[in-house]
Amino acid sequence: MAGKTIPATLIPGDGIGPEIVAAVVEILKAAGAPFAWERHDGGMAAIEKHGDPLPPRLLASIRRTGLALKGPLTTPVGGGYRSVNVRLREEFGLFANVRPVRSMVAGGRYEDIDLVLVRENVEGLYLAWEHYLKVGDDPHAVAISSGVNTRAGGERIARFAYDYAVENGRKKVTIVHKANVLKALTGLFLEAARDTGKKYRRKLEIDDRIVDACAMQLVLNPWQFDVILTTNLFGDILSDLMAGLVGGLGMAPGANIGDQAAIFEAVHGSAPDIAGKGIANPLALLLAGCLMLEHVGKKALAKSIRAAVDHVLRIDNLRTRELGGKATTKEFARAVIKRLK
Ligand code: NAD
Repeated sequence: MAGKTIPATLIPGDGIGPEIVAAVVEILKAAGAPFAWERHDGGMAAIEKHGDPLPPRLLASIRRTGLALKGPLTTPVGGGYRSVNVRLREEFGLFANVRPVRSMVAGGRYEDIDLVLVRENVEGLYLAWEHYLKVGDDPHAVAISSGVNTRAGGERIARFAYDYAVENGRKKVTIVHKANVLKALTGLFLEAARDTGKKYRRKLEIDDRIVDACAMQLVLNPWQFDVILTTNLFGDILSDLMAGLVGGLGMAPGANIGDQAAIFEAVHGSAPDIAGKGIANPLALLLAGCLMLEHVGKKALAKSIRAAVDHVLRIDNLRTRELGGKATTKEFARAVIKRLK
């Protein structure tokens, strides 16, 4: 008998979004994922039909399901639209951004990378409380930006990172900060993360690192790290650095998680240069689908999809073009389905 279905919002998105979303939905279905999708337009597709990149019916669906898989959304340049991704984070209080990276294709610069970055997603310098001061004739003579970190926000993301580490069999969490210079802003984050960590000492090794040293160490010896816990801005930068360790954004999934909702996506954008050609790599979004399965407790299904992907990449040697192969989006999806156990 079929198990219970789980309602989930599906946003095909813009550019390559509909192509990779279709491929991922097909693979998830073949793997037996229990999602009952509610499809909604977002981004440019929604502006054309509804005059808003985040129409109320899309937001209502996410509010109802608490779960979404999202194709990349194009934020129109000009026209007064705020980043749709930032709006979604704010709307649903998605305070945690989880970005795992893992070596999947042999022969890259590094082998055996398996790291997770947990980034605080709603505080810090990304609040973008910015303004200029006029001096003399120059209205932009001085630029000022205020970052805001709260003890409660630091404790919340730290608890999330430690719980994630414990639940996923990770051994070590490194708190990354710049408390030697930004003593209040990132000093408070460090203090909150260290204090919260005291309860986890028996389960996890917890250390800390200054962000610049961490960036160098990630390049020199990434294997010394396991889970990295950091603030919004540092997390944005370090997560792209970490994606570079495993071959780029094409294999980087992300989860945005809050108390009421969780939205899963690829880290890359809508790739307008290759949209409609059927050659986009669906892997990052598929890995985001695996994070979504884990989020709803379907760890075995996520594991079986990852194993099938590993088989396709390493043994069948089938890859999309940006990874040096010839496979189309559909051929890659069919190959993964064939290898699902
Ligand atoms: P991009 O990630 O879309 O593309 C950068 C390069 O990587 C391009 O050459 C593209 O062809 C390639 N690429 C990206 N994804 C690929 C895939 N799955 N398979 C094969 N090649 C892939 O970045 P961009 O060009 O800076 O941004 C394009 C649009 O996407 C912008 O409107 C931006 O705002 C939006 N964007 C959205 C998100 C999101 O929704 N989470 C994230 C980043 C950018």
